[in-house]
Amino acid sequence: MKPRWLSLLLIATLGISACSEAPLQVYKAKLFTLGTLVDVSVFHPDEAAAQQAITIVETELAAINRQWHAWRDSPLTLINQQLAQGKTVTIDSATHHFIQQAQTLAADSDQLFNPTIGSLVELWGFHSDDRPDGAPPAQEKIDAALTQSPSMANVTLTVTTLTSNHPAVQFDFGAFGKGYAIDRAVEQLKLAGIKNAIVNAGGDLRAIGSKGKQPWRIGVRHPTEAGVIASIETNGDESVFTSGNYERFFDFDGRRYHHIIDPRSGYPANDAVSVTVIHNNAATADAAATALFIAGTTQWPQIAKQMGVDKVMLIGNDLTIYMTQKMAQRIHLEIDDAQIKIIGNDT
Ligand code: AMP
Ligand code: MG
Repeated sequence: MKPRWLSLLLIATLGISACSEAPLQVYKAKLFTLGTLVDVSVFHPDEAAAQQAITIVETELAAINRQWHAWRDSPLTLINQQLAQGKTVTIDSATHHFIQQAQTLAADSDQLFNPTIGSLVELWGFHSDDRPDGAPPAQEKIDAALTQSPSMANVTLTVTTLTSNHPAVQFDFGAFGKGYAIDRAVEQLKLAGIKNAIVNAGGDLRAIGSKGKQPWRIGVRHPTEAGVIASIETNGDESVFTSGNYERFFDFDGRRYHHIIDPRSGYPANDAVSVTVIHNNAATADAAATALFIAGTTQWPQIAKQMGVDKVMLIGNDLTIYMTQKMAQRIHLEIDDAQIKIIGNDT
């Protein structure tokens, strides 16, 4: 059955190209899931196929959102309860695959991407649909959380079970789930024969193919002003993810406290304002953007190398732009007063 939102939101954009060529058709839909507005565009000659593709994306994203929601009752909150009680959790193969990929990325990031610090994220008030308000947590509470410092190294996976040797492990996959969900959606699209599409969840996206003769072109949000700081034309099958301190935050006593927590200090990471990563795998791009944000201006090249990520742009607090050579070759800056540092070409 055709969902009602689809009738409301499916828009065909027709552009007539040269007179001997078929008209370009981009079908678009907007979905609300994964805590954000998701734009799906499918470039296809056939409307029914495009509608089916959009339904595939909606189904995949909704399934991951339901499964891994960190603060509404979900299979994840159940897993967290069982781990807190020291129980062995029985898991299916999809869960195994999800956690295994997160564990590998966490290890490669030296545990800066640390999806076991759910208690710390909750302490900072970010396990809520609303913006936290009031003071940051008391130092003693942060210190208490830091003495625990769990990581994915405390988690043991078999094909059917999950255990932890650390009672403080509480999963929060907010830094990785969106990427994973987009990967799943795009893999399903490819299986359905879709070759040209883009799934864009609030600026984090994976694109395949092109928009006819033009590449998909996307903007990277300016971290401190309205508008975009850069644009990127995607090439083949690519994901672009950005982590920024402007996404979820609260202000108190003139200071900003945001949602990307440095597991070493227990505080929001404070050496960058945004990090953008291009990679062919969306889950890797997502986890890496978060990890490199925490790594900051000096440590990011090393962590990027370990994570197998070679297209990175990090914007520091003073708006200095750091990037790899490979990112510099791909990104088009839309501002002209930036101080730019390009990091060596072996990155
Ligand atoms: P992102 O926007 O992808 O950088 O993800 C940020 C979200 O990931 C936060 O809202 C938290 O749910 C979670 N998070 C915060 N700090 C970390 C961390 N050090 N490692 C993994 N996940 C984190
Ligand atoms: Mg992320």
